[in-house]
Amino acid sequence: MKYVLITGGVVSGLGKGVTASSIGVVLKACGLRLTSIKIDPYLNTDAGTMSPFEHGEVFVLDDGGEVDLDLGNYERFLDVRLTRDNNITTGKIYQSVLEKERKGDYLGKTVQVVPHITDAIKDWIESVSAIPVDGKAGPADVCVIELGGTVGDIESMPFIEALRQLYFSKGPDNFCLIHVSLVPVLGVVGEQKTKPTQHSVRELRALGLTPHFLACRSAQPLLENTKQKLSQFCQVPVANILNIHDVPNIWHVPLVLRNQNAHEAILKQLALLGVATPPNLQ
Ligand code: ADP
Repeated sequence: MKYVLITGGVVSGLGKGVTASSIGVVLKACGLRLTSIKIDPYLNTDAGTMSPFEHGEVFVLDDGGEVDLDLGNYERFLDVRLTRDNNITTGKIYQSVLEKERKGDYLGKTVQVVPHITDAIKDWIESVSAIPVDGKAGPADVCVIELGGTVGDIESMPFIEALRQLYFSKGPDNFCLIHVSLVPVLGVVGEQKTKPTQHSVRELRALGLTPHFLACRSAQPLLENTKQKLSQFCQVPVANILNIHDVPNIWHVPLVLRNQNAHEAILKQLALLGVATPPNLQ
């Protein structure tokens, strides 16, 4: 199993879900089988009790699981049927750890965020990613994991640490980290600003995760000079700086990625170049 992790920086609502789904589409078009996991670091067990005015529409899965709309995007973009376990929340993780603690499974040990919560997160990811969701037998080739929220949020720290450990244990050929960030243009200056992205990459690196790719959200396509700056200051090769500019319809995003050869660069990172076939996206 190979993992593609999507994190987000600078602001929330950047389009991490749409980016994760679209990356899934281009990889699927290369002949790979995909599954996905959405991590929501809030304490609610699921989205069922959350106000749609505050949180947006709740998506109901075939098994009755009430989850974030991003899982609806995954189902529609990737043509898969997910389970409630494909959505991990802090509430679910703590519930499972506390149930084990009450049963005495930790044999008198002090139960701690590290290693017990982080181990529970890693075990959950590994077991759920092995469940086939496309109607075929056997596990998928690639699991796309979207970490909700913004890097640096207190509530996402145990997930970042668990994902850092997972990355270390799987090795660089099996793990690809894509950081979604914002490149704003200041009205008065009229220049694409890279500093917010530089800061959020620095925050990510301080937590032990180095992005292989940047997926930069911007109103207009990124200028070559902006890409060079991002590459130099964020230590990401220019070929791995993807630009997801605003499009009139989110179904265009996979094509925006295909036009930048994102699939080739991701396959290269995952040591799959030559194994998977080129995409056939119209
Ligand atoms: P996040 O997962 O980061 O909270 P979402 O994927 O839910 O963000 O996207 C937030 C909103 O932005 C959605 O309404 C989505 O349709 C819109 N959006 C995402 N990417 C783009 C894009 N490239 N162009 C226009 N709108 C987008």
